[in-house]
Amino acid sequence: MGNHRYDAHCHIFTLKYAVKEIKNMLHDMLCGTYPFHDPTSKALFAARENWFDDLKQLLRQLYELIHAAGGSEEENLNFLQEEAIKAFPSGDLRIIPLMMDIFYMLAYPLYKDGDIQKVRGLKMAQVDEKEYQDRWNEILDDFKTYVQLQKLALKATAKGEVGGNVEQALQIIEEERHVAETLRLKSGALKSTGFEGFYQTGGFCYHLNNLVDLVIKRKGELYPFVAIDPRRPGIIDTLVSGSFFKGDGRFYGVKLYPRMGFHPQSKPMDAVYKYCNDNHLPIIFHCGMGGFPPSTTWKYFDFGNPLNFEPVVKKYPKLKIDFAHLGSSDPSYDWAKTIVRLINENDNVYSDLACYTSTDELKPMKKLWDANPKLKSRLMFGTDFDVMYFTGKVNMQIYYKNFKTIFKPDELKLLMCDNPVKFMGINA
Ligand SMILES: [Zn+2]
Repeated sequence: MGNHRYDAHCHIFTLKYAVKEIKNMLHDMLCGTYPFHDPTSKALFAARENWFDDLKQLLRQLYELIHAAGGSEEENLNFLQEEAIKAFPSGDLRIIPLMMDIFYMLAYPLYKDGDIQKVRGLKMAQVDEKEYQDRWNEILDDFKTYVQLQKLALKATAKGEVGGNVEQALQIIEEERHVAETLRLKSGALKSTGFEGFYQTGGFCYHLNNLVDLVIKRKGELYPFVAIDPRRPGIIDTLVSGSFFKGDGRFYGVKLYPRMGFHPQSKPMDAVYKYCNDNHLPIIFHCGMGGFPPSTTWKYFDFGNPLNFEPVVKKYPKLKIDFAHLGSSDPSYDWAKTIVRLINENDNVYSDLACYTSTDELKPMKKLWDANPKLKSRLMFGTDFDVMYFTGKVNMQIYYKNFKTIFKPDELKLLMCDNPVKFMGINA
């Protein structure tokens, strides 16, 4: 089993995705339809402060996060494959790119047993175009200043390799200058019919469309996972309709990022687990204390605690779940120990080593690997591209070199070839 290498956890979204999505967030915030609170109301919306600055900061943070990504999803796929060939001259690289849904990260949180608010319709509300354009210009101009300052800083430190997208960023700012495109979206942002039924926003649909196109064009080279945030109206209905997982341009699993503000045991989530269980679809959820936004004290970081998924693991013993990052950034390693216990006690639990950017970080994980034989059939390799560049510690060649230093060739084969294929349940 397993002649192909897999990067079982990476991201190929682009700055264009982020800018489009924030443009859409601004739209809904101006309309008063962004669900800051439950229930949504203009009065509550008006009472909330700082949201405009939050958007400015979010755009800056996303730029930092995606600073090594290419201009398109396909460029990122090509880059990952070219770098893998340098590290492993024989064989090809397939990737599992994970979508992310950032739209609701400033919205009301869903706590344990909490439920979503009533859907207010799947079409965009009306907004005053002039006000929208003026506000958007202000955000873009703030961002432009930031990018230009970064350009100077990058020059000063000669960090050319990872700072290569400054010109690209300036170009995207101008391409996304006009708000009329978002206003025209209404519910026509999706190329593929059959995916309808959820609230469509510019960036989310842009990335989704590009992934689906790429799956068709580069058949067998990528196995994308669709991001589900239960607060996106209609997304769970679309999920359980099965349309994401049919046809040539399809997804292969579900990505969850509870850190965005939804608890894994919030009410709407059970339908997701049940559907994935019944239809043999794997789930990857973010299970590191760090992540995005970049802080280990982010208010919802504990939603990603592996203990929150233990009842799900027990209830659905056939549902394959990847506890991503093996609980990274936890100084006490409690999250990692919990994951290892869950792997040992159950047959459906996997984990991955995405974003381990130094041999010092990998060494304690190698100890767990040596002490727990079952990890050899459950742990997967991942780069977390291009988030791993965000750490400033590695480029792709160093990343691969670190893994080769810590793991023997036959161990790397388990991590990169055999376990991802088993996790996804694909024939390869
Ligand atoms: Zn990731």
